[in-house]
Amino acid sequence: MISVIEGCLSCGCTQLQEIMSFGETALADRLMTAAQVNEPEPKAPLDLMFCPECALVQIHHTVDPEVLFCNNYPYYSSVSPSLMRHFRASAEDIMRSRQLGPDSLVVEAASNDGYMLKPFLEAGIQVLGIDPADGPAAAAVKSGVRTLNTFFSLELARTLADSEHVAADVFLANNVLAHVPDLNNFVEGIRTLLKPDGVAVLECPYLLDLIAHNEFDTIYHQHLCYFSATALDRLFRCHGLFLNDVARVAIHGGSLRLFVGRTEQVGSSVREMLADEREAGVGTFAYYADFAGKVRRLRERLTAMLADLKAQGHRIVGYGAAAKANTLMAYCGIGPAQLDYLVDLNPNKQGLFYSGNHLPIHPPSRLAADPPDYLLILAWNFASEIMQQQSAFRAAGGKFIVPVPEPVIL
Ligand code: ZN
Repeated sequence: MISVIEGCLSCGCTQLQEIMSFGETALADRLMTAAQVNEPEPKAPLDLMFCPECALVQIHHTVDPEVLFCNNYPYYSSVSPSLMRHFRASAEDIMRSRQLGPDSLVVEAASNDGYMLKPFLEAGIQVLGIDPADGPAAAAVKSGVRTLNTFFSLELARTLADSEHVAADVFLANNVLAHVPDLNNFVEGIRTLLKPDGVAVLECPYLLDLIAHNEFDTIYHQHLCYFSATALDRLFRCHGLFLNDVARVAIHGGSLRLFVGRTEQVGSSVREMLADEREAGVGTFAYYADFAGKVRRLRERLTAMLADLKAQGHRIVGYGAAAKANTLMAYCGIGPAQLDYLVDLNPNKQGLFYSGNHLPIHPPSRLAADPPDYLLILAWNFASEIMQQQSAFRAAGGKFIVPVPEPVIL
């Protein structure tokens, strides 16, 4: 079920260096029912590694996808209005800049419920979605988005190219690259499906934002890789693809939107980003050792803060049963000794128990019925929204703890 990754996921180098270990953690997004709490729970080491050859940052263990992704609340992208706006704007940009028409084809890997393909479809452009999740893929088909219910791979790309003559003017993949166990297979698949003058537009969280904002809790088993432009540029070149343009986008704690083609037309955005990364030390181990030190200091401060509040007799509740809370709570040793319970807005998570520490998850209305003194905002990326929603809690004397990038009480 758990295997050690033998070599670098990009270049195969076997001399990976350990940046830091978060210890053995439960698997994120694997919430339990009351009956499952008493069953043995899968755990796996969470170690962050650096490849001195190609600078790719990655974790050292993989967990079988059927164990890793077996949650009972399938994720539908269309549920988040801010994500919808973000990707619709991106689709409109692509349609404008690529002058797509009825003969053009847009292919998307991990297309979920078809949320990003819909704007293309509405404009009369042909689309093909590919997604392994049954529920979202079925929802996409129902709304008219042609979707193959499977994983994207080189083998699938070859089949589509050979037997159906599929050739993409635009290939999309948002927040999927970090999840892919065989990166080289995936990237070769992109090259196989892309027309010679086509463009692949990919989004992935940006490693330098993760480090700058101390977002260590976005490191968990589902995310195998953490990308810099330096590592991506090298990966694409190995497959006859070129990172020609790049933009930073403020989503998922800071992401990159990559424009990749089969001919080399490297723009100033890429040249500047590569130069900035070189200057920051992205290719050196020292850069990551410094990050590991910051993460350890955060843990010391947060655990001391919580211990202090408990010693004063305060009650604390955690807000947000998202995947990232798993790493933060496991690494900082947060469980029933610190938190009374968790709350989450997602009704599919309410009534379940969190991975590892088995804290019960309630709807936010519980905060009024059973009020704590402090609310630890585990979903810190929504901290301002949560504090606004919980203005009654504050008015009644409640306080908020935001743990990242540095623990503060507000
Ligand atoms: Zn490597």
